[in-house]
Formats: sequence, C-alpha cells, structure tokens
Amino acid sequence: MKNANGHEIIQLFESWSPKKLACMDNDPIGLAIGTLNKAVSKVLVTLDVNEQVAEEAIERGCQLIIAHHPPIFRKLSNLRTDTPAGKLYEKLIKNDIAVYAAHTNLDVAEGGVNDLLAEALQLENCQILEKTYHENLMKLAVFVPDDYAQEVRLALAKAGAGSIGNYDACSFSTNGEGRFRALEGADPFIGDIGKMEKTDEEKIEVVFTTSNKNKVLKAMLNSHPYEEPAYDLYTLAVETNEMGLGRVGTLKEPMTLERFAEHVKTQLNVPRVRVVGNINTSIKKVAVVGGDGNKYIHTAKRSGADVFVTGDIGFHIAQDAESIGLNIVDPGHHVEKVMIKGVAEKMDKLCSDAKLSVEFVQSEIDTEPFTFI
Ligand SMILES: [Zn+2]
Repeated sequence: MKNANGHEIIQLFESWSPKKLACMDNDPIGLAIGTLNKAVSKVLVTLDVNEQVAEEAIERGCQLIIAHHPPIFRKLSNLRTDTPAGKLYEKLIKNDIAVYAAHTNLDVAEGGVNDLLAEALQLENCQILEKTYHENLMKLAVFVPDDYAQEVRLALAKAGAGSIGNYDACSFSTNGEGRFRALEGADPFIGDIGKMEKTDEEKIEVVFTTSNKNKVLKAMLNSHPYEEPAYDLYTLAVETNEMGLGRVGTLKEPMTLERFAEHVKTQLNVPRVRVVGNINTSIKKVAVVGGDGNKYIHTAKRSGADVFVTGDIGFHIAQDAESIGLNIVDPGHHVEKVMIKGVAEKMDKLCSDAKLSVEFVQSEIDTEPFTFI
C-alpha cells in the first residue's frame, strides 16, 4: 500500500464515473474547491456540502470531500465571507479541504445513483430509462508483413481492440501484396533505397471504441516493424457503450401501489412518500430517476413502467402524470443519499485494488431540509 494524492484518487473515481457522462448543460462537476495537489489519506463522501458537513470533514480529519451536489452551482459574483455560502467556502479553504463534485455523471455511471436506487428497490432486469451517452465503434485496417502479423494482432488485442460482447481478440485478416519504394533519408525495414519492393502482407482489421483510439493506435505503431506503417482508420455508424439516466426494472412479485409505496419507504429509509394514482393498481414494472425527475414522466410512461419513482414532483407535473395514467411515488430528492454508501464502497475497492492507502468515510450529517410531521 502506498500513500495517495488527490489526483490519484480522482483518477480512479473518473475511471468509473468520467466527466464525459454528464448530461446537463454546464453541470459544474469536478474539483470545485481547493486542490488535488496534496496527500490525501481520508475522504468524506456526502450528498451535499453544508457547514455541518465541513465541520464533520474537519473533525474526522478528511483532506477531500466527494459530493454529489456541486457546492458552487451558479457562478459566483463575489466571495464575501459574511454570507452563508461564502462562510462555507472560507471554512473549507482555511482548513485545506478540497471538494470534488460528481453530479449527473454519477447519475449515469454504472453503479451510480440510479443503479443504487434500483438496487435498493430490489428491481431486476434493469435497463436504462433514457439513453444519454454512447460511443461509436472505430475500425483500424493495418497492413503488416506476414511474419509480423501475429505480433501486431496480439498487441492490438492487448490494447483492447477486437472486444465484441463476450469475445475479445477478434480480428479479420486478408492476404495480399504490398508495394513501396523507399526514398532518400528512409531506413527501410525491407528493401533498398530507390528500388520498388513487393512483400506479402496481411491486412488486419479490428474494431474498438472511440475512447480507446489512442491506446490502440499506439499499440499498432509500437508493434509494427515498418518505419511508416500503412493503415486506415475510420468511424463506424455502429453505436456501443450506451449509458443513460434512470433505470427501469421489474419487481420479483407484483404488489399494489399502496404496498409498493410502503416498500419504497422501507427500502429508501424515508418516513413519507407522495403518491399519484389509484393505490390498488398492481405494480410490476418500475422506473426510477434519482433527484428531480419532473422532465421524465413521459419517458417513464413510454418505458411501460407501472410506477415512476422520483423526487421533487411539482403539482402540475403530478396532474400531467395522472392524465397520462402514470402512477408516481415521490420519496423526495434526498433519497440520493444512497450514493454515500455506494460511492464509499466502490472507491474503497478501486483504491485497495490500486494499492492506495486511503480511507473513505460516510457522512453522518442529515442534509434533508424537510421535516415530515
Ligand atoms: Zn440531486
């Protein structure tokens, strides 16, 4: 185990929940306060950052906070320390506590907020509710002298090219002849300067995701014997790595909406929920969106869900849901607190696998602004 710095921890975090998954315009994710250029031995995971959470981080000896809700959401026009927000920022800076926010990228990430909610609700066969991200496949066709084809193929496979579903190291080869003439200044692997050459070559074709492009190209260039390898590289219209917001899955056994509402209360640990719809309806298929899901009632309806679990449902949206026959259970926005345990456990695993000595502690401050009476 070795001591960690802030960058190493966040690099691991982003290998799981990269910023590119964010699906809200100008979502202020990433490092919000302080610096990652420092040793970090303890990280506090929290849903929100308020003054009590800052105190908690100080008391528990944390150098970094990972939060779901960005602590600076709108652009600041001043940094006065006589306002509540300013006082919070001052406290964090003075105590050298950095804050890193993972918002909609953590909603979308596999094992992120929405998966954690679906898991808590014991949903099975979960699918993405609304696709917000995909990558295109790319194809590399590279021309390699026969004797080196296997070496290049292995290097490409090692870099992750040719992974298709439950298969890896997939490639296709055709044999042919390559022709070239080396000019003055060249250092040809085969043949002489100024003479036309002909060699038996294999055209090796492999596919990979756009995000893996640099790694695959580097592997090909490093393993290819030629000074100037000839290759084609193009983007395919094939989409892969689809990810998105919300989940839709099924309950093991159907239950009435009334019983399901009780199930939500128990599983998400909330004292009250608001319900739209006839409480005697049978519920089997469930859609869930963490946080504020007002925008997704039609998506939830189209998914065929019998009920939509989400927070912050407004009065008129509830009326719209009623008119399209969509049942809703609103347990509040605060159920996103499931991320505290989820993120702490995931990061614990990622860091111990990477032999980094860092402790993730779960915030015990209740940041729910509502009291249910
Ligand atoms: Zn939220």
